[in-house]
Amino acid sequence: MLSPPSTRFITVMSNFSPALAIHGGAGTIPRAALDDSARAAHHAGLRAALTAGFAVLAAGGAALDAVTQAVMALEDDELFNAARGAVFTEAGRLEMDAAIMEGGGRRAGAVAGICGPKNPILAARAVMECSPAVLLAGAGAEAFARAQNLVFMPQEYFETPRRRAALALELDRRAAGLPDTRSDADRHGTVGAVARDAAGNLAAATSTGGITAKLPGRIGDTPIFGAGTYADNASCAVSCTGTGEVFIRFTAASDIAARLRYAGQTLDEAAQAVVAELLTHGGDGGLIALGREGPPVLPFNSTGMYRGYVTADGILHTAIHREEFTKQPFY
Ligand code: ASP
Repeated sequence: MLSPPSTRFITVMSNFSPALAIHGGAGTIPRAALDDSARAAHHAGLRAALTAGFAVLAAGGAALDAVTQAVMALEDDELFNAARGAVFTEAGRLEMDAAIMEGGGRRAGAVAGICGPKNPILAARAVMECSPAVLLAGAGAEAFARAQNLVFMPQEYFETPRRRAALALELDRRAAGLPDTRSDADRHGTVGAVARDAAGNLAAATSTGGITAKLPGRIGDTPIFGAGTYADNASCAVSCTGTGEVFIRFTAASDIAARLRYAGQTLDEAAQAVVAELLTHGGDGGLIALGREGPPVLPFNSTGMYRGYVTADGILHTAIHREEFTKQPFY
């Protein structure tokens, strides 16, 4: 059992101030359709992920472990589009992408188009730590994860009635040739985390089911380093959510790092500029980013983004749309 975090411990013992930010995707349920119990459940899910990740940092652990724990918690929660609760391809299958990167040595690992590992983020981490590859896809990635003794689940574990209904709605719409009026929640989502530990190391992790009714074989921005996921101790850690194709074409995450390194922008300026530019090219969504110092930034151009953060004071901040953050102490 971890003892309660001490703010004094964190500030006195380190040169860097630990921080963690998470997102549960830009595919939010519209404000008017989100009843009190659904709102409470999403906040609770975000807080559980913040708690899992911040427990690592408060105990003096590594940013890499903090983002792993936070993303695993979100993957296990069927409310979010990653692992359990992932969206379906147009063929009624599940194909998940995940990526993890640490900013010290710029080590990175990712998987794409897999269904099997209970926590795809652990498969991505295994690629980083136990293979010479950076990105493994499909059957090869699944075989590798099996060889690493990761826990596997049948497809039924990941399936939820809500995501099946979203697939049926979209296939019916296409068959009828109707315009796309679906909510963001029926379309897409992702989960992600960025962290900074007391040693000043940054890390990012992202995991997703992708876009509802996507083409089989389609891979989004999540496992593409520099697009949906990125970490570099010299600049920042970033995890994105939104229209993956646009985030890939505009290398969203590494553009933020480049603005910090070469254009002298602040993290907030860089992240806001990239999110605004993505929108002008049809890329709706958002991102979380954390720099070498200061608090995280969590901009989005969509109607909402499930999100949260915690810094050395241990207050868990969570929000869904453009309202004020809800605050709760870590313990
Ligand atoms: N970016 C994800 C993808 O394109 C989807 C999302 O974040 O909503 O796969």
